[in-house]
Amino acid sequence: LENILIKNIDIITADKDNEFISNGQILISGGIIEFAGKGEIPENLLPDKIIDGKNKLAMPGLINAHTHSGMTLLRNYANDLALEDWLYKKIFPAEARIEEEDIYWGTLLAIIEMIKSGTTCFADMYLHMDQTAKAVCESGIRANLSRSLLKFSSDDRKPIDDSELCIKYHKDWHGRENGRLIVSLEVHSVYLFDLQSLKNAAELAKKLGIGIQIHILETVTERTESIKKYGMDSAEICAECGIFDVPTVAAHCVHMSENDYYILKSKNVSVAHNPTSNLKLGSGIANIPYMMKCGINVALGTDGTASNNNLNMFEEMHLAALIHKGYNMNPQLINAKQTINMATVNGAKAVGFGDSVGVIKNGMKADIIILDMDKPHLTPVNDPFSAVVYSAQASDVDTVIVDGRILMEGRRLINIDEELVKYKVREISKRLLNG
Ligand SMILES: [Zn+2]
Repeated sequence: LENILIKNIDIITADKDNEFISNGQILISGGIIEFAGKGEIPENLLPDKIIDGKNKLAMPGLINAHTHSGMTLLRNYANDLALEDWLYKKIFPAEARIEEEDIYWGTLLAIIEMIKSGTTCFADMYLHMDQTAKAVCESGIRANLSRSLLKFSSDDRKPIDDSELCIKYHKDWHGRENGRLIVSLEVHSVYLFDLQSLKNAAELAKKLGIGIQIHILETVTERTESIKKYGMDSAEICAECGIFDVPTVAAHCVHMSENDYYILKSKNVSVAHNPTSNLKLGSGIANIPYMMKCGINVALGTDGTASNNNLNMFEEMHLAALIHKGYNMNPQLINAKQTINMATVNGAKAVGFGDSVGVIKNGMKADIIILDMDKPHLTPVNDPFSAVVYSAQASDVDTVIVDGRILMEGRRLINIDEELVKYKVREISKRLLNG
């Protein structure tokens, strides 16, 4: 690993009160941020590479706290449908035709898209997760990958226990690549599981010492069906079954009761807010300002490209900062700093990397993106936080560094063949969707 010096650069740290450093230096050595701030860099560390920070802005890499990266294969396939019709009538039948290696290519495409839009870490749940892990290892991105302990037969979707393979998945991949890849357990949702499987999932996660990724209370239907069936909503059931006794990131949380917020807060559950997906599927708008007031850790996610239909975290930040103001007729809700925190430091906490990434400060791992601010829509910058949230575009991301390694520079990817990956995914998608 080379020593990299980023000199004379403005820095959004996402640390403490999201401190801003103007015209500072960042020195990266052995994958670690050795120095970030104003003043002279330590003399004993000579840089192998110098990046000039003039008209540029460094910030922590964005963290996509909820996605299904292999779903790029189904991008723009089923649209303008409610979640239940979208999932059962369109997505599940198409997914039944997906073969293992398809996921490798679909995930690589997702990773290309994520790197090019400033995402350095993502949390994922999907099919054939060994292929996802392979793509993560090869590409250099950071990830928390979850595998389900229930497998659903493709014909009648009857659940089959797959926990042995989860144990193997954990053994094969957890902590790989200098800890760049970690593993958790997927519990898709309460509505696809039964009480015993939920309890089994909680037990297995505890035994392995890992977290859980889950969808919770995405739609009104989920809420009413669950209350009809169990007399409790999905959040209450998760608390009952022990799911929340391990570090959990819960996607959506749109249709919550007062008691549900209390449960999430007291159990330290992180929420992944997916504003685009919730709007596109007509699911509703999660009460994020209230969650923040309750002290719940709120992160941001894109969800899969079949319900978004891209993996652009700049769009998610933009929407997250706007919809709650409009919906509540209150422009003071969720300011630009808070929005950036959701996409960085809160995301790192949510997906199990809170000790190592998400902020720019000495001793953290170097997951950093550099934005080119020399653009008409970013001139004059005036307030860098507002510039990032309200003006910036994903295409302003110039350089991406993960674990001290440059993955993109001058918008050119260093180690993935973008043309080959696009070609492969076009071919696979034709086979899946015309089947
Ligand atoms: Zn999802």
